[in-house]
Parts: sequence; structure tokens; C-alpha cells
Amino acid sequence: MSIVPITLCGDKILRKKTAIVTDIDDKTIGIIADMFETMRNANGVGLAANQIGLNQQIFVVDVSPVEGYEKYKPIAMINPRIISKSDETTSIEEGCLSIPEIREELIRPKSVFVSFYDVNMKEHTVEADELFARVIQHEYDHLQGTLFIDYFNDDLKKQYKKHLDKIKKRKLDFDYPISETTDYLIK
Ligand code: ZN
Repeated sequence: MSIVPITLCGDKILRKKTAIVTDIDDKTIGIIADMFETMRNANGVGLAANQIGLNQQIFVVDVSPVEGYEKYKPIAMINPRIISKSDETTSIEEGCLSIPEIREELIRPKSVFVSFYDVNMKEHTVEADELFARVIQHEYDHLQGTLFIDYFNDDLKKQYKKHLDKIKKRKLDFDYPISETTDYLIK
């Protein structure tokens, strides 16, 4: 396992819809292990494959470090689909490892019903609620090329414009390894 650099807002790969995974080999399993390690090193609770430069429909989630969620097991979701969303919504603060130092409350559905494949290509479904549902929705968005800042209103977008430029130009002090160029891709 190793910690790999995280792509940043402005990197092209974060704006591309990721490709469906058709088969899982040892390399994929190794990548998922790297994703967990990279996420934990950065104190994140979720990470999508395109955040490490990989154009595949995979994300990992581990909300167990968060108080009240200790019993949740770390999970890797391959080719996830959000089958349904609750009408009930909730406001939760979100951040993103690809957009450091921005945290804002966002309103999204409180629960989601999701299907996904595991590393054995076995299909599962899960009903996720609260923070677990929130992380899944955030990571699922990543796989579609959507970032949480896309939901900001014009005032917020304006407020963070300079900060986003700093991220894009890598002019911040980052707490974890970040991709060096905007075209960074794992070989
Ligand atoms: Zn994110």
C-alpha cells in the first residue's frame, strides 16, 4: 500500500465522467488499498478514483473516525448507482480533499438507496442515511465529474474564487501529497 498524490480542483480528470469498471484484477485491488491509505493520511472520509488520477467508477468511504459512526465499516464501491433518494433533506457541512480549506453546509437528500459491486464483482445494495449517505452522494458526484462547489450560490462562488485560483496554481500549503501538474495521471 502506498499514499498517492491527490488531484486538485482545476485538474481535468476531476471534470470527466469516469468509466465503468469491467473487470477487477490485482492492480485494481492494490489501487483500492492505496485509495484507503491516501484518504486516511489526509484525514478524509471518502475518496473517488479520479481524485488519484484514475478514470474509473470506484470510490472508498470510511466514516468510522467520526463520532457516532464508529460501527460503520470501511467500504469500497465499484460501479455505484444511486437508485433512489429520500424526499427528506438535511444540511451537513462538506469539504473535499481536492478542494482544501473550503467547508460549507450543503442541503442534500437525507438518505439514498445505492447499488454497487465489491472486489469480487458481486452486486450489493445498501440503504444509507445521514453522514454515510452524504459521503456517498459527494463521492458519486465525483465519478460524474461534479464537485461540491458546483452547488454553491453566486455569492459563495465569488467568495471562494481567489482561494480556488490558489488551489489550481498550487499556491497553498497542502497537508498531504498533491498531483504536480494539471494533467497528472497514474500510469
Ligand atoms: Zn471530494
